[in-house]
Amino acid sequence: MLEDTIAAIATPLGEGGIGIIRLSGPEAIQIAARVFRPKRGPSLEETCTHRVRLGLALDPKTGEVVDEVLALVMRAPRSYTAEDVVELHCHGGPLACARVLEAVLKAGARLAEPGEFTRRAYLNGRLDLAQAEAVLNIIRARSRAGLAAAVNQLEGGLSKKVKEIKDEITGVLASIEASLDFPEEVGDPGREEKERLNKAREALKRLLSTWEEGKILSQGIKITLVGRPNVGKSSLLNAFLKEERAIVSDIPGTTRDTIKEILQLGGFPCELVDTAGWRQAADGLEELGIARSRAAAAAADLVLLVVDLTVGVTQEDTEIAESLRDKPLIVVGNKVDAVLEVDAGSLERLAGSCPWVAVSAKTGEGLEELGRKIRDLILSGRALRGPGEPLLLRERHKVALERALEHVEDALRGWSEGIPWDLVSVDLQGAWEALGEITGETAREEILDRIFSEFCLGK
Ligand code: GDP
Ligand code: ZN
Repeated sequence: MLEDTIAAIATPLGEGGIGIIRLSGPEAIQIAARVFRPKRGPSLEETCTHRVRLGLALDPKTGEVVDEVLALVMRAPRSYTAEDVVELHCHGGPLACARVLEAVLKAGARLAEPGEFTRRAYLNGRLDLAQAEAVLNIIRARSRAGLAAAVNQLEGGLSKKVKEIKDEITGVLASIEASLDFPEEVGDPGREEKERLNKAREALKRLLSTWEEGKILSQGIKITLVGRPNVGKSSLLNAFLKEERAIVSDIPGTTRDTIKEILQLGGFPCELVDTAGWRQAADGLEELGIARSRAAAAAADLVLLVVDLTVGVTQEDTEIAESLRDKPLIVVGNKVDAVLEVDAGSLERLAGSCPWVAVSAKTGEGLEELGRKIRDLILSGRALRGPGEPLLLRERHKVALERALEHVEDALRGWSEGIPWDLVSVDLQGAWEALGEITGETAREEILDRIFSEFCLGK
């Protein structure tokens, strides 16, 4: 499989400044040379690594000029895939990219499958599996913090932690093997080995405790704005959008009564849903809106209950709060710009054990504090990490770590109960294998297929 040369368009389709066709494999340079005619100087085959050349891309069958391009040669192993790689930078139109790709395929390359470049980087040992997956998280990052965590994973943060734990387990396994093979000379594993296993267990638990945060960073949280009409829900959504320029996308399917936006609040990617009404209404259309509003609130990870400070807390506000009692909630007193004093007591009573904050959608006052409160509430009770400490971003890693932890705990229990050493050893091997799935040593082909099929074409 690694013997052929693959090619794909590496940039998004559509109009752009440049479009890049990437080739990787043993014949990448020769194949590109069949397509590329330099304006001056030596041929592509004689070009030094990491040099850029200007020339024309030609159809290798007809000799027709397809586009003017730059060719970048990166010789193995100093490339993304650790193979010979050539990038042809053409003009960023869909047709130019498609024609250059076609020329490269005619010249002998095979169209790459989704994720195949990264898969080769993995198979060639340039990246381990956790690092390859980090590439996906980087591409899909929806917040600064999520991006930072993914880059940490690409740099090997998680892999290093996993390796440390694996080393502890390997050490204990070796002691057990030695004592089984040479019972006279070596003796049974003792306090030191047990200490190592305890250390491995604590490290596994600590890593697992980062999943809640990692999940939020990779998948985002759902926040729903609820409240009586005219309290300023839509204004708040707009105010957030103005503060936060990094709007990632609009979600299609916006309806008359619920509007969704994705933005960053408190450093997290959030899907913010603005609901229309909550009140019992007479006409059927509004009923539908109310049903949708309630459904949106039920699906939310966090609800922002907006009240109008110029009106004060009403009976209806209290009823809404009651109906949401089992949800993480923040009471947002809006229009603070229009009142002389905030009636903290009534907001506090409405919020109960939940936090409240006074803001103004009009002036932006208090929005930052609201962001902090969202962050605190979402992260409350979660283990705090040191800066730069790795965090779990993928469910696959969490599942593997849970399995490893279970095995380590079984081993420790068996140890205390005095079960035979070879049975302890079986559990430790199980833990070792589960950890190896994260970095890839023990990952089966199906796992690889599943992971790399998530990638886009050309990556
Ligand atoms: P919704 O029905 O809850 O979505 O409320 P809207 O966002 O449509 O706002 C209702 C009215 O309140 C509009 O006239 C807004 O201009 C006004 N409003 C919203 N936020 C503020 C605010 O922070 N201060 C003031 N003074 N007026 C606001
Ligand atoms: Zn509204």
